[in-house]
Amino acid sequence: MAPDKVKLLVKSLGFFIPYLGQATISRVAAYCHSWTWRNTPDAKNVVVLGGSFAGIELVKRLGETLPTGYKAVWIEKNSHLNYSFNFPRFSVLTGHEHTAFIPYDGIAKGAPEGIFCRIQDTAVALTDHQVLLASGDKIDYEYLAIATGSTQPLPVQVASTERSDACHELQSVQQTIKASQKIAVVGGGAVGVELASDIKDFYPDKEVTLIHSRGQLMSHFGSRLQAYALSVLRDELEIRVLLNERPNMPSAGNFARSASLTFSDGREEQFDLIIGCTGQRPNSSILKSLYPSTVSNETSRILVRPTLQVLNANAPNQDLPIFSFGDVADHGGPRMARAGWMQSQVVLDNILAKIHGQTPTRKYTPNVFLEGAIKLTLGKTHTVIYAMEDDGSEMLIPSRDGKLDLGIESAWKEYGVDFKRASEGHADRVEVGAGAAGSQC
Ligand SMILES: Cc1cc2nc3c(=O)[nH]c(=O)nc-3n(C[C@H](O)[C@H](O)[C@H](O)COP(=O)(O)OP(=O)(O)OC[C@H]3O[C@@H](n4cnc5c(N)ncnc54)[C@H](O)[C@@H]3O)c2cc1C
Repeated sequence: MAPDKVKLLVKSLGFFIPYLGQATISRVAAYCHSWTWRNTPDAKNVVVLGGSFAGIELVKRLGETLPTGYKAVWIEKNSHLNYSFNFPRFSVLTGHEHTAFIPYDGIAKGAPEGIFCRIQDTAVALTDHQVLLASGDKIDYEYLAIATGSTQPLPVQVASTERSDACHELQSVQQTIKASQKIAVVGGGAVGVELASDIKDFYPDKEVTLIHSRGQLMSHFGSRLQAYALSVLRDELEIRVLLNERPNMPSAGNFARSASLTFSDGREEQFDLIIGCTGQRPNSSILKSLYPSTVSNETSRILVRPTLQVLNANAPNQDLPIFSFGDVADHGGPRMARAGWMQSQVVLDNILAKIHGQTPTRKYTPNVFLEGAIKLTLGKTHTVIYAMEDDGSEMLIPSRDGKLDLGIESAWKEYGVDFKRASEGHADRVEVGAGAAGSQC
């Protein structure tokens, strides 16, 4: 076996063997909890704001661990989970887009009735004890966990909050790409690299240009992945890659038809389609309006202590009942779903400590190798798994037998939903848990 594969296997076993032991203990404890938790009318709310990779995991675990007297309220604007890992692929490949929007109704499985409810709504403001929603409802919180992630335009994210509308968004991206001959993708991070390589591999006759502001693609990763991606894009897929170029995006925005870009030498070039894959904006404004000094001026992310409790820079000793994790938080770890998942365990333990009158002590220490690892697609079936150790040594495992739909069925399974439901009507709005409507929470 190649040394990189051995390294991955050893690292994974080193993590998963203790994890499986812990998961078994948690399952048994969750089963006992489901018999002992009691629904009381005056239960206090632990509110989780944001229901993507980070928020979902916390919601699940709260449903298995909260003591009687507390329940979880989960506020998320979408009717479903956006499985955004697959968006670049389903922006090009047709007929699978509906599978990238996974219903939420598997999350509550096994939790005691009444322990949590989901509210499909947008949080628009906070007070020190309430979340205010776009519908006008106000939700009390005893503890609040903010996992609102970040916003990016199509095709990195969709704007629609309902499944059927979200499908139409991706379908319109597919049609526009199909109809365009000369395409520029601006931004050579993971999304830009995946999208450019898929466009060129699915439509070899198109002229595809990938433009990146730095000297290397995939700037947040190490040199082995940067060199590998560049050589596949340039030499195998024959994509034109322009580095150290930062053209202004057209006024039509991040998805501009018949527009031009002006390069550093003053040359202006016309494209049928220009797709921007840059400009991630953390969704932190809701907290900033209540406590301005909890949000970093440099990154716009929410400042947190190692316990992931929100830090008010102007009042560092203030003991806020608010936690933040996932992509919206300035936690010092990778901005990856796996990191948010690990952080959810830290937030859970610390909220439970506070409920029991103890000081939160569990600290988040990034496991950079596992949390920062990426599986990058470089065309239809070509993928590469890449990770970097704390000491900077790199692991890179290419493969040429990736699935066209990127194995989306396993994601449905992971979130407790039968994949057969993927083909059902897209307009379903599924409520989670007992009494899921906003006013009943
Ligand atoms: C193409 C692509 C591939 C990726 N591949 C990987 C990978 O292989 N491995 C990996 O670990 N990571 C990967 N990532 C990164 C991963 O997707 C992010 O790290 C992850 O989505 C962050 O999760 P989050 O829950 O913190 O935030 P988000 O996923 O951004 O979710 C935030 C949630 O909060 C909700 N929300 C926001 N504001 C409000 C509000 N005011 N009211 C109500 N709801 C609100 C949003 O609707 C959303 O559901 C990839 C990302 C992309 C784009």
